Amino acid sequence: MAQTNPCAPQVNVYFLKNEKLLIDAGPNNYPCYLKLKQNLENIGIDLKQISVVVTHHHPDHVGLLKYFPKEITVYASPEIRYYGTSAYLNAIDEQIRQLQILGIPAHAIDQVKSQLQQRFLPFLETINFEDLNRLPVSSIRIHRLCGHSPADIVFQKDNCFFGGDLILKGIYFNILLDINPVNQKLCLLNQEYKQSIKKILTTFKVQTWYPGHGDPMNFSSLIKINKKYQKLSQLIHQRIVQSFSSSDYDLAMREIYSYFPHLNDYFYLSDILTVLK
Ligand SMILES: [Zn+2]
Repeated sequence: MAQTNPCAPQVNVYFLKNEKLLIDAGPNNYPCYLKLKQNLENIGIDLKQISVVVTHHHPDHVGLLKYFPKEITVYASPEIRYYGTSAYLNAIDEQIRQLQILGIPAHAIDQVKSQLQQRFLPFLETINFEDLNRLPVSSIRIHRLCGHSPADIVFQKDNCFFGGDLILKGIYFNILLDINPVNQKLCLLNQEYKQSIKKILTTFKVQTWYPGHGDPMNFSSLIKINKKYQKLSQLIHQRIVQSFSSSDYDLAMREIYSYFPHLNDYFYLSDILTVLK
């Protein structure tokens, strides 16, 4: 049922044969597009016959859509188009100004800015999008969650779940900073991430979890990953909170950055900003 795209960068796309449904498209890479087309032809499917759904708007999952024939319907949340508009670029500039006012060090701000700019995808305007609610495939259930991005979609077929980047093995801070298309502000998704994971672990009957990167996982792997995440997250939050016992704000910021040698990694910025809020 599942087919993995072996092209670099390594991103999983899945094709449900009976439904003729492709879950995620892959990165903006023409050789990957040709490979996908060939893989489908090998099982007797013409690319023009399929429908596509996407788990979230990040370029490693939607970039390949750029090469798809225009008549292919891509079912997604309507907000996805936002990431191809100048409004998105303007929102990045405005949010970067806000981070500067907060006193976030320049090197961290630069990382956030470049990540957000990389997710600007002008070709989205040319894609034949249809509202996800109109997906004409009754065997697939749609779960709207968030945490890795402001709008993560988990697709369920029987007890198999296709979760994009919501839960990834070996990455415990995969909550990315994003611009929320509704209020056009930076969204800090730590709380939402925790809620989504809780919902998945307590209400979904997961037999197999098919992630956007890496191998499929069973339920007990998901539990293990979550435990590691909780531990690390708690540690970082404790240390951030301790740092804020300092009354001098600039000193506190310097202290935070000396606690964590890799804090210039924008993943952590989400945690810091949550504490600053
Ligand atoms: Zn990804």
